[in-house]
Amino acid sequence: MPGAGAPDVRHSKVLIIGSGPAGYTAAVYAARAALAPRLIEGPQPGGQLTITTEVENWPGDESVLGPDLMARMGEQVRNAGVDVASDVIVEVDLTRAPFLAVGDSGTHYTGDALIVATGASARWLGLASESIYRGRGVSACATCDGFFYRDRVCAVVGGGNTAVEEALYLTNFAQKVYLIHRRDTLRADRTNQARLFANPKIEMIWNAEVAEVLGDGGGVTGLALRDTQSGAMSQLAVHGLFVAIGHDPATALFKGQLHMDGEGYILVTPGSTAASVPGVFAAGDVQDKLFRQAVTSAGMGCMAALEAERYLAGHNIQSAVDGAEADLLV
Ligand SMILES: Cc1cc2nc3c(=O)[nH]c(=O)nc-3n(C[C@H](O)[C@H](O)[C@H](O)COP(=O)(O)OP(=O)(O)OC[C@H]3O[C@@H](n4cnc5c(N)ncnc54)[C@H](O)[C@@H]3O)c2cc1C
Repeated sequence: MPGAGAPDVRHSKVLIIGSGPAGYTAAVYAARAALAPRLIEGPQPGGQLTITTEVENWPGDESVLGPDLMARMGEQVRNAGVDVASDVIVEVDLTRAPFLAVGDSGTHYTGDALIVATGASARWLGLASESIYRGRGVSACATCDGFFYRDRVCAVVGGGNTAVEEALYLTNFAQKVYLIHRRDTLRADRTNQARLFANPKIEMIWNAEVAEVLGDGGGVTGLALRDTQSGAMSQLAVHGLFVAIGHDPATALFKGQLHMDGEGYILVTPGSTAASVPGVFAAGDVQDKLFRQAVTSAGMGCMAALEAERYLAGHNIQSAVDGAEADLLV
């Protein structure tokens, strides 16, 4: 038991932050390497796939519900003996060994090696009116909220795969879906574009941006649109707005401690998950803005655990779990 005022310190050889496909996979591999890892679940246990429905590109499952897939991964992790903590890391110190991660609970988690798998989250337009109506007509997750728009009219903003997938998904419920894009071509891949253009419920609004979300106080009633070419304003009557303009990596915690690119994605050694601090590894969407898939995240989680194992073996780091500080023997 920690003394009065002293933090509860929990040590593990491998500390994993994040419980998406990357974190869970890293945990399974680290556990099977007898590294007794600890995994911090964070604010979204199971990660981004818990807010989707069917996943049809996870190997071995032709179709599986995202929450079910992540529940199965979580069960596998627990069955492998991983210590899973329901906590959110609010501060880290990567300048000393062992690395320190402080939980919202006040617990100090230390690790001889650290795997960062904190993922990414949706980006918003940044309009005051968008914030006012978030949860009352404005959403970033069609699969979560699409059901509420049965026979209604919705708009999706964006031009990438996420925006197209959101628009297509909404056609399962909505009477009509507008896809608003600030340019005159989409970034989405060809397969997605073909599905989009073939769907009679979807209408493209090119060269337009949302200037304001309009509402009646209770919910969204429309959008004020600005033509990105002429600047002309127009109004569009909709009941819902789905913002699908990309993601931000959850890396604020590591600013100034790990090297990142201009968008805040953690930089790793090419062909590896090694971050700029030796002993720290980054896996999944937190370091990948190219693929952003469950299977690639899981693959990087595997790499991170194997690399952490090699790092610990190479540095001959031996430590006991919980309450003991690591001995750096070299
Ligand atoms: C709606 C939707 C549908 C998708 N559909 C598919 C699909 O069909 N197929 C596919 O392959 N991919 C899909 N994806 C993408 C896929 O979900 C991601 O690529 C994948 O989840 C990334 O995994 P990850 O482990 O890197 O991070 P995430 O899944 O983002 O998990 C991040 C984890 O980090 C934790 N965390 C964050 N901050 C902290 C903190 N401060 N302290 C502790 N923990 C923290 C969170 O709680 C979370 O558990 C979809 C994504 C979305 C949003």
